Amino acid sequence: MARDLYETLNVSRDASKEDIKRAYRKLARQYHPDVNKDAGAEDMFKELSRAYEVLSDDDQRARYDRFGEAGLNGGGGGGPGDFAGAAGFGDISDIFESFFGGFAGAGTGGRRATRPGGPTRGDDLRYDMVLEFQEAIFGGEKEITINHLTTCETCRGSGSKPGSGPTTCRNCGGQGQIRQARRTPFGLFTQVAACPNCQGTGEVIESPCPTCSGRGRNQKQTTIKITIPAGVDAGSRLRVQGEGDAGMRGGPPGDLFIYVSVRNHPVFRREGQDIYSVAEISYLQAILGSQMSVETVDGPQTVVVPPGTQPETVLTLDGKGVPRIGNPTRRGHHYLQLKVVIPTKLGAEERELLTKLAKARGEKVSKKEGLEGLIDSIGNLFH
Ligand SMILES: [Zn+2]
Ligand SMILES: [Zn+2]
Repeated sequence: MARDLYETLNVSRDASKEDIKRAYRKLARQYHPDVNKDAGAEDMFKELSRAYEVLSDDDQRARYDRFGEAGLNGGGGGGPGDFAGAAGFGDISDIFESFFGGFAGAGTGGRRATRPGGPTRGDDLRYDMVLEFQEAIFGGEKEITINHLTTCETCRGSGSKPGSGPTTCRNCGGQGQIRQARRTPFGLFTQVAACPNCQGTGEVIESPCPTCSGRGRNQKQTTIKITIPAGVDAGSRLRVQGEGDAGMRGGPPGDLFIYVSVRNHPVFRREGQDIYSVAEISYLQAILGSQMSVETVDGPQTVVVPPGTQPETVLTLDGKGVPRIGNPTRRGHHYLQLKVVIPTKLGAEERELLTKLAKARGEKVSKKEGLEGLIDSIGNLFH
């Protein structure tokens, strides 16, 4: 039952009087029954008080060092249980005032909220998604499979084996932090650090949950249905709330962010809400006008090529572009660039007809094709 007194105060055997006092104040503050309602806190406080009583007294400490507990029996020290006046601290409030100032009355609730190791929000996750050109334009549903941390179903995130609960950390008395007063040339400073025993949680899991080994979260593969809004573009980021990693100790989960990239299309090029494509027309269609079927994101569509269409003319197909995100009835345009194809080779009949036409218009043209035609054209220059 009798724990080593130095151990009780968490000090080394050669600790100075000042160290011992500091250690006692730190621990007494945590275990004082006025503050700490946990089972065992009162006993711990009694133990602390007795350890301090002995070790702060040179005489008693010397005897304890030489003979252990035996050296104290009948040594006149106050027995365990008498903690009220222990060690020269008339009242617990002294201990509090010196550490917290006016904060002492705030109660443990206020401190718990800010302690390290409290509920933590889970991490956000990133998922890279490649969409087909058409998918990005019209949106739709897509299933993705992700790996994320989910709250353990066995222990509901507590990390403790069902039926058992976490116990208050004895090292920090459930505060989650260790305060240490440090004397510096500028005065006494109180350093606060997360308790190394409980990682700042204030609780220790004695029998860990077998499913998550006490971590409270498990890596899990989840398939999620994602609704892709019409009009997303490469570089868009979709946020799926709550599908990141689960939070710690009841903290909220993080979010899943889907980074979108879009595959190129063999025919269409997209710029924001507009679509661009190129259609070839013959020189005759350009001159005489025509009707033709062109591909749009909505499928084939008939367009009218007006007579006298010039090379590089751009036709605008209203509302055949990309839907606006959040307002899909409003769409961009489809710009159709017309390329007039001038034939490089003519059939005999076509050549004859064109030559006839040229003659009728009084235009000088070559009478032959290819290299011969070129020589012929040059010859024309000298006539
Ligand atoms: Zn678990
Ligand atoms: Zn602790």
